[in-house]
Amino acid sequence: MGFRTDAIQKGVYADKTFNSVTTPVYMSTTYFFDGIGQPPRYDYSRSGNPTRAALEENLAALENGAGASYQCTGMAAVTTALFLFKPGDHIITGREIYGGTYRLFSAVFAQRGIEFSFVDMTKPEDIRAAVKKNTRGIWIETPSNPQLRLTDIAAVVSIAREHGILTLADNTFMSPYFQRPLDLGVDFVVHSTTKYINGHSDVVGGCVISRTAENAKTIAEITNNIGTPGSPFDAFLVLRGVKTLPFRMKAHQENALAIAEFLASHPRVKNVSYPGLPSHPQHELAKQQMSGFGGMLSFRLDLDKIDPNKFVTSLDVLLLAESLGGVESLICQPWSMTHLSMPEEARRAADIDESMFRISAGLEDPEDLIADLKQALEA
Ligand SMILES: *Cc1c(COP(=O)(O)O)cnc(C)c1O
Repeated sequence: MGFRTDAIQKGVYADKTFNSVTTPVYMSTTYFFDGIGQPPRYDYSRSGNPTRAALEENLAALENGAGASYQCTGMAAVTTALFLFKPGDHIITGREIYGGTYRLFSAVFAQRGIEFSFVDMTKPEDIRAAVKKNTRGIWIETPSNPQLRLTDIAAVVSIAREHGILTLADNTFMSPYFQRPLDLGVDFVVHSTTKYINGHSDVVGGCVISRTAENAKTIAEITNNIGTPGSPFDAFLVLRGVKTLPFRMKAHQENALAIAEFLASHPRVKNVSYPGLPSHPQHELAKQQMSGFGGMLSFRLDLDKIDPNKFVTSLDVLLLAESLGGVESLICQPWSMTHLSMPEEARRAADIDESMFRISAGLEDPEDLIADLKQALEA
């Protein structure tokens, strides 16, 4: 079936008692046995839950994976995936990754014996040069946050396979609608479903999707062992949100492109990074490995011509807020907001400074968004 059909149907029609058209919320924490040695399909809700299972089947289908584990947050998904590794293992990742992921790697897992190299992921040769005897994983985040720089997924997979290294991709920014890393040979996809997959800024959640059934089983065991699954009610809401993912992604992209083109033409804006603009240095790679360009963009203000605080406080339609992927347009200054969890040197090394802003284009009328940005730039 096509993506739209899968988004609406996969995992959903499992209630054979009442033939519900939407998945019921099974709040029961436990389930009764019919006798000794006769366990029910689900026995305890941390290990498995029908509502969560419906969402997991749906997400696995959309990413073309063998199985998914729904998690209580995106960070829980990253944590679960990191439990594939053990002390002494080395992981290569980007200098410019989600701030919370950077903090989890550098402040939590690095203290527990896992070694990290933060490299320029736009250069496959730098990734190859970082491979060591104990390298067990490569963590990909593409496009990167906040600069929308791309990692060549197929090139990374080929380096990883030469050395028997696992590849993991955080696909939050593109969603499976525009990018499917598992199809390019990546072993695990991670999402913060808080963003595009749920899409309505009302549920924090995450998931890990595996390319093989064996790996999916391992992830399900880790999830049960460390206790990170998401709640049935949250799963219900995400399952409602994901049904419109294809339509939302198309509209997010349309608005992001319109905003990117407007900003690129404005004299108070220095440069715009959006993979869908021909001026993006990796526009060709974007066309090759993604089926669209997404709803995220970043740009730099010319600080000689405009005060950044005056700019953001003059906005009426766009909200100054962290997070992304919801129906409402959000703008943030990564330097002081989303990426504050990175030390100043790390932010500078990733080229994040006070002039940079990131926009998550929502689904409002593009004319309203552009008019709002224009009046704030000229305020
Ligand atoms: C938000 C985000 C996360 C973390 O997800 P939470 O749901 O906030 O825990 C991880 N990776 C990326 C790319 C994100 O945008």
